[in-house]
Amino acid sequence: MIEDYHKAGEIVSKIRDDASKMIKEGLLVLDLVEYVENEIKNMGAEIAFPCNVSINEIAAHYTAYLNDPTEIQAGDLVKLDLGAHINGYIADTAITIMAPGDSLEDNLDEDTIEKNQKLIDASAEGLDAAIATVRDGVSLNKIGEEVEKVINSYGFNPIVNLHGHSLEQYNLHSGLSVPSNKDKNNQKIREGDVLAIEPFATDGLGFVTDTPDIYIFRFLKERPLRVLYTKKVLKTIKTNYSSLPFSYRWLNKIYPGARLFAAINQLIDIGAIYPYAALKEKTNKWISQTEHSVIVEKDGCEVFTK
Ligand code: MN
Ligand code: MN
Repeated sequence: MIEDYHKAGEIVSKIRDDASKMIKEGLLVLDLVEYVENEIKNMGAEIAFPCNVSINEIAAHYTAYLNDPTEIQAGDLVKLDLGAHINGYIADTAITIMAPGDSLEDNLDEDTIEKNQKLIDASAEGLDAAIATVRDGVSLNKIGEEVEKVINSYGFNPIVNLHGHSLEQYNLHSGLSVPSNKDKNNQKIREGDVLAIEPFATDGLGFVTDTPDIYIFRFLKERPLRVLYTKKVLKTIKTNYSSLPFSYRWLNKIYPGARLFAAINQLIDIGAIYPYAALKEKTNKWISQTEHSVIVEKDGCEVFTK
Protein backbone atom coordinates (compact mmCIF):
# COMPACT_ATOMS: atom_id res chain seq x y z
CA MET A 1 0.00 0.00 0.00
CA ILE A 2 2.74 2.49 0.97
CA GLU A 3 4.72 1.43 -2.11
CA ASP A 4 1.66 2.03 -4.25
CA TYR A 5 1.23 5.54 -2.83
CA HIS A 6 4.91 6.22 -3.42
CA LYS A 7 4.80 5.01 -7.01
CA ALA A 8 1.61 6.97 -7.79
CA GLY A 9 3.20 10.01 -6.16
CA GLU A 10 6.36 9.79 -8.23
CA ILE A 11 4.33 9.49 -11.41
CA VAL A 12 2.04 12.48 -10.80
CA SER A 13 4.96 14.63 -9.64
CA LYS A 14 6.96 13.98 -12.79
CA ILE A 15 3.96 14.58 -15.04
CA ARG A 16 2.97 17.75 -13.13
CA ASP A 17 6.48 19.14 -13.55
CA ASP A 18 6.72 18.20 -17.23
CA ALA A 19 3.22 19.48 -18.05
CA SER A 20 3.89 22.75 -16.19
CA LYS A 21 6.62 23.52 -18.71
CA MET A 22 4.17 23.04 -21.58
CA ILE A 23 1.72 25.63 -20.24
CA LYS A 24 1.99 28.71 -22.42
CA GLU A 25 0.08 30.98 -24.74
CA GLY A 26 -1.66 29.05 -27.52
CA LEU A 27 -1.70 25.60 -25.88
CA LEU A 28 -5.09 23.89 -26.11
CA VAL A 29 -6.52 22.78 -22.76
CA LEU A 30 -7.55 19.61 -24.59
CA ASP A 31 -3.93 18.84 -25.53
CA LEU A 32 -2.79 19.49 -21.97
CA VAL A 33 -5.32 17.17 -20.31
CA GLU A 34 -4.76 14.44 -22.90
CA TYR A 35 -0.99 14.68 -22.42
CA VAL A 36 -1.39 14.29 -18.65
CA GLU A 37 -3.87 11.43 -18.85
CA ASN A 38 -1.87 9.55 -21.48
CA GLU A 39 1.34 9.94 -19.49
CA ILE A 40 -0.31 8.51 -16.37
CA LYS A 41 -1.13 5.36 -18.32
CA ASN A 42 2.24 5.28 -20.14
CA MET A 43 4.01 5.36 -16.78
CA GLY A 44 2.07 2.36 -15.52
CA ALA A 45 -0.56 3.96 -13.30
CA GLU A 46 -4.30 4.49 -13.70
CA ILE A 47 -6.09 7.84 -13.93
CA ALA A 48 -7.69 8.72 -10.58
CA PHE A 49 -9.86 11.50 -12.04
CA PRO A 50 -10.05 13.51 -15.26
CA CYS A 51 -7.19 16.02 -15.43
CA ASN A 52 -8.57 19.38 -14.26
CA VAL A 53 -7.39 22.57 -15.96
CA SER A 54 -9.17 25.51 -14.37
CA ILE A 55 -8.31 28.99 -15.59
CA ASN A 56 -8.48 32.41 -13.84
CA GLU A 57 -11.77 32.73 -11.86
CA ILE A 58 -12.49 29.03 -12.37
CA ALA A 59 -11.35 27.18 -9.25
CA ALA A 60 -11.76 23.52 -10.10
CA HIS A 61 -13.58 20.76 -11.97
CA TYR A 62 -13.04 22.03 -15.49
CA THR A 63 -11.75 19.49 -17.97
CA ALA A 64 -11.76 19.66 -21.75
CA TYR A 65 -14.62 18.16 -23.75
CA LEU A 66 -14.03 16.55 -27.16
CA ASN A 67 -12.82 19.15 -29.68
CA ASP A 68 -12.78 21.79 -26.92
CA PRO A 69 -11.27 24.87 -28.64
CA THR A 70 -10.27 26.57 -25.34
CA GLU A 71 -6.78 27.95 -25.75
CA ILE A 72 -4.52 29.19 -22.97
CA GLN A 73 -3.82 32.93 -23.18
CA ALA A 74 -0.66 34.63 -21.97
CA GLY A 75 -1.14 35.69 -18.35
CA ASP A 76 -3.83 33.12 -17.60
CA LEU A 77 -3.73 31.71 -14.10
CA VAL A 78 -3.78 28.01 -14.97
CA LYS A 79 -4.51 25.49 -12.24
CA LEU A 80 -3.38 22.03 -13.28
CA ASP A 81 -4.77 19.32 -10.99
CA LEU A 82 -4.03 15.66 -11.65
CA GLY A 83 -4.37 12.32 -9.92
CA ALA A 84 -3.12 8.80 -10.54
CA HIS A 85 -3.51 5.56 -8.66
CA ILE A 86 -1.83 2.21 -8.32
CA ASN A 87 -4.21 -0.52 -7.13
CA GLY A 88 -6.59 2.26 -6.01
CA TYR A 89 -4.01 4.11 -3.90
CA ILE A 90 -4.27 7.69 -5.13
CA ALA A 91 -1.80 10.55 -5.40
CA ASP A 92 -3.45 13.94 -5.99
CA THR A 93 -1.45 17.09 -6.76
CA ALA A 94 -1.97 20.54 -8.26
CA ILE A 95 0.05 23.57 -9.26
CA THR A 96 -0.77 27.02 -10.57
CA ILE A 97 1.16 28.52 -13.47
CA MET A 98 0.82 32.01 -14.93
CA ALA A 99 1.00 31.18 -18.63
CA PRO A 100 3.96 32.82 -20.33
CA GLY A 101 3.77 34.17 -23.88
CA ASP A 102 4.60 37.09 -26.14
CA SER A 103 1.24 38.77 -25.47
CA LEU A 104 1.69 38.78 -21.68
CA GLU A 105 2.21 42.51 -21.42
CA ASP A 106 -0.60 43.25 -23.89
CA ASN A 107 -3.01 41.09 -21.92
CA LEU A 108 -2.20 42.15 -18.34
CA ASP A 109 -0.85 45.30 -16.72
CA GLU A 110 2.17 45.15 -14.46
CA ASP A 111 0.15 45.25 -11.23
CA THR A 112 -1.99 42.30 -12.29
CA ILE A 113 1.07 40.28 -13.25
CA GLU A 114 2.54 41.00 -9.83
CA LYS A 115 -0.74 40.15 -8.09
CA ASN A 116 -0.99 36.84 -9.94
CA GLN A 117 2.49 35.90 -8.86
CA LYS A 118 1.57 36.73 -5.28
CA LEU A 119 -1.58 34.62 -5.54
CA ILE A 120 0.56 31.68 -6.66
CA ASP A 121 2.96 32.24 -3.77
CA ALA A 122 0.10 32.59 -1.26
CA SER A 123 -1.45 29.19 -2.00
CA ALA A 124 1.98 27.50 -2.23
CA GLU A 125 3.10 28.99 1.06
CA GLY A 126 -0.29 28.21 2.62
CA LEU A 127 0.27 24.59 1.65
CA ASP A 128 3.77 24.65 3.17
CA ALA A 129 2.27 25.94 6.41
CA ALA A 130 -0.35 23.19 6.38
CA ILE A 131 2.30 20.52 5.79
CA ALA A 132 4.40 21.92 8.64
CA THR A 133 1.36 21.60 10.94
CA VAL A 134 0.30 18.07 10.04
CA ARG A 135 1.07 15.35 12.59
CA ASP A 136 -0.83 12.77 14.62
CA GLY A 137 -3.47 14.41 16.84
CA VAL A 138 -3.70 17.82 15.14
CA SER A 139 -7.22 19.07 14.46
CA LEU A 140 -8.35 19.78 10.92
CA ASN A 141 -9.24 23.38 11.72
CA LYS A 142 -5.77 23.95 13.17
CA ILE A 143 -4.39 23.11 9.72
CA GLY A 144 -6.93 25.50 8.19
CA GLU A 145 -5.99 28.22 10.65
CA GLU A 146 -2.33 28.06 9.62
CA VAL A 147 -3.25 28.18 5.93
CA GLU A 148 -5.55 31.14 6.47
CA LYS A 149 -2.88 33.09 8.37
CA VAL A 150 -0.45 32.80 5.48
CA ILE A 151 -2.99 33.64 2.77
CA ASN A 152 -4.28 36.62 4.76
CA SER A 153 -0.72 37.85 5.22
CA TYR A 154 -0.60 38.30 1.43
CA GLY A 155 -3.80 40.35 1.60
CA PHE A 156 -5.85 37.53 0.05
CA ASN A 157 -8.61 35.19 1.17
CA PRO A 158 -8.65 31.40 1.20
CA ILE A 159 -11.55 29.72 -0.55
CA VAL A 160 -13.56 28.47 2.43
CA ASN A 161 -16.00 26.14 0.66
CA LEU A 162 -13.44 24.03 -1.18
CA HIS A 163 -11.58 21.56 0.99
CA GLY A 164 -8.75 19.09 0.93
CA HIS A 165 -9.76 15.53 1.68
CA SER A 166 -8.60 12.20 2.94
CA LEU A 167 -7.73 9.48 0.45
CA GLU A 168 -8.58 5.82 0.75
CA GLN A 169 -8.31 2.95 -1.68
CA TYR A 170 -10.46 3.78 -4.74
CA ASN A 171 -11.99 6.64 -2.73
CA LEU A 172 -10.92 10.14 -3.73
CA HIS A 173 -12.93 12.00 -1.09
CA SER A 174 -13.15 9.75 1.94
CA GLY A 175 -14.25 10.93 5.38
CA LEU A 176 -12.00 13.84 6.36
CA SER A 177 -12.29 17.38 5.04
CA VAL A 178 -9.25 19.69 5.28
CA PRO A 179 -10.28 23.35 5.40
CA SER A 180 -8.22 26.39 4.35
CA ASN A 181 -9.56 28.47 7.23
CA LYS A 182 -10.26 28.05 10.92
CA ASP A 183 -13.71 26.50 10.58
CA LYS A 184 -15.63 24.49 13.20
CA ASN A 185 -14.17 21.11 12.34
CA ASN A 186 -11.98 20.18 15.32
CA GLN A 187 -11.80 16.51 14.36
CA LYS A 188 -8.27 15.18 14.76
CA ILE A 189 -6.10 13.52 12.15
CA ARG A 190 -4.26 10.32 13.01
CA GLU A 191 -1.02 8.62 12.09
CA GLY A 192 -1.57 6.68 8.87
CA ASP A 193 -4.27 9.00 7.52
CA VAL A 194 -3.61 9.97 3.92
CA LEU A 195 -4.59 13.53 3.05
CA ALA A 196 -4.70 15.68 -0.07
CA ILE A 197 -4.23 19.27 1.10
CA GLU A 198 -5.12 21.98 -1.38
CA PRO A 199 -5.39 25.63 -0.37
CA PHE A 200 -6.94 28.04 -2.86
CA ALA A 201 -6.14 31.76 -2.61
CA THR A 202 -8.07 34.63 -4.17
CA ASP A 203 -8.34 38.41 -4.08
CA GLY A 204 -12.12 37.90 -4.13
CA LEU A 205 -14.57 36.93 -1.38
CA GLY A 206 -13.29 33.41 -1.00
CA PHE A 207 -16.38 31.46 -2.00
CA VAL A 208 -16.97 29.34 -5.07
CA THR A 209 -20.26 28.68 -6.84
CA ASP A 210 -21.33 26.30 -9.62
CA THR A 211 -21.03 27.25 -13.28
CA PRO A 212 -23.26 25.65 -15.92
CA ASP A 213 -20.25 23.73 -17.29
CA ILE A 214 -20.39 20.09 -16.21
CA TYR A 215 -17.78 17.78 -17.70
CA ILE A 216 -16.89 15.57 -14.72
CA PHE A 217 -19.18 12.99 -13.09
CA ARG A 218 -19.18 10.09 -10.70
CA PHE A 219 -21.27 6.90 -10.74
CA LEU A 220 -23.77 6.73 -7.87
CA LYS A 221 -26.14 3.82 -8.38
CA GLU A 222 -27.96 1.56 -10.78
CA ARG A 223 -31.37 2.91 -11.83
CA PRO A 224 -34.13 1.39 -13.94
CA LEU A 225 -34.10 2.79 -17.50
CA ARG A 226 -36.35 2.25 -20.47
CA VAL A 227 -34.32 3.81 -23.28
CA LEU A 228 -31.78 1.25 -24.52
CA TYR A 229 -29.16 3.88 -25.39
CA THR A 230 -29.18 5.46 -21.94
CA LYS A 231 -29.13 2.01 -20.37
CA LYS A 232 -25.99 1.19 -22.36
CA VAL A 233 -24.34 4.45 -21.34
CA LEU A 234 -24.99 3.71 -17.67
CA LYS A 235 -23.66 0.16 -18.08
CA THR A 236 -20.46 1.55 -19.61
CA ILE A 237 -20.10 3.99 -16.71
CA LYS A 238 -20.66 1.29 -14.11
CA THR A 239 -18.26 -1.11 -15.79
CA ASN A 240 -15.42 1.36 -16.34
CA TYR A 241 -15.84 4.08 -13.73
CA SER A 242 -17.65 2.50 -10.79
CA SER A 243 -15.83 4.35 -8.01
CA LEU A 244 -13.69 7.19 -9.37
CA PRO A 245 -14.76 10.25 -11.38
CA PHE A 246 -14.94 10.21 -15.19
CA SER A 247 -15.21 12.85 -17.87
CA TYR A 248 -17.74 13.61 -20.57
CA ARG A 249 -14.82 13.48 -23.04
CA TRP A 250 -13.97 9.86 -22.19
CA LEU A 251 -17.56 8.77 -22.60
CA ASN A 252 -17.96 10.81 -25.79
CA LYS A 253 -15.15 8.77 -27.36
CA ILE A 254 -17.20 5.63 -26.75
CA TYR A 255 -20.53 7.29 -27.60
CA PRO A 256 -19.82 9.89 -30.28
CA GLY A 257 -22.37 12.53 -31.12
CA ALA A 258 -24.78 14.84 -29.34
CA ARG A 259 -27.19 12.15 -28.15
CA LEU A 260 -24.92 11.48 -25.19
CA PHE A 261 -25.74 14.91 -23.75
CA ALA A 262 -29.42 14.09 -23.21
CA ALA A 263 -28.56 10.70 -21.77
CA ILE A 264 -26.14 12.21 -19.28
CA ASN A 265 -28.73 14.77 -18.21
CA GLN A 266 -31.25 12.02 -17.64
CA LEU A 267 -28.74 10.02 -15.58
CA ILE A 268 -28.15 13.10 -13.41
CA ASP A 269 -31.91 13.65 -13.01
CA ILE A 270 -32.60 10.09 -11.82
CA GLY A 271 -29.64 10.11 -9.43
CA ALA A 272 -27.56 7.52 -11.28
CA ILE A 273 -24.55 9.82 -11.60
CA TYR A 274 -23.31 12.85 -9.69
CA PRO A 275 -22.35 15.98 -11.63
CA TYR A 276 -19.27 17.98 -10.61
CA ALA A 277 -19.99 21.43 -12.03
CA ALA A 278 -16.97 23.58 -12.78
CA LEU A 279 -16.65 26.00 -9.85
CA LYS A 280 -15.91 29.70 -10.06
CA GLU A 281 -15.09 32.39 -7.57
CA LYS A 282 -18.35 34.09 -6.62
CA THR A 283 -17.09 37.59 -7.40
CA ASN A 284 -15.23 36.39 -10.53
CA LYS A 285 -11.84 37.14 -9.02
CA TRP A 286 -8.88 34.99 -9.94
CA ILE A 287 -7.76 32.00 -7.93
CA SER A 288 -4.56 30.03 -7.31
CA GLN A 289 -4.30 26.48 -5.99
CA THR A 290 -1.45 24.28 -4.79
CA GLU A 291 -1.91 20.68 -3.68
CA HIS A 292 0.12 17.83 -2.27
CA SER A 293 -0.79 14.41 -0.91
CA VAL A 294 0.67 13.40 2.43
CA ILE A 295 0.78 10.45 4.81
CA VAL A 296 0.32 11.52 8.43
CA GLU A 297 3.08 10.39 10.78
CA LYS A 298 3.48 10.55 14.53
CA ASP A 299 5.55 13.74 14.46
CA GLY A 300 4.88 15.13 11.02
CA CYS A 301 4.00 13.84 7.59
CA GLU A 302 5.49 12.44 4.43
CA VAL A 303 4.72 14.39 1.27
CA PHE A 304 4.60 11.79 -1.51
CA THR A 305 3.89 14.12 -4.45
CA LYS A 306 7.04 16.25 -4.18
MN1 MN B 1 -6.45 17.63 -6.86
MN1 MN C 1 -7.72 17.00 -4.14
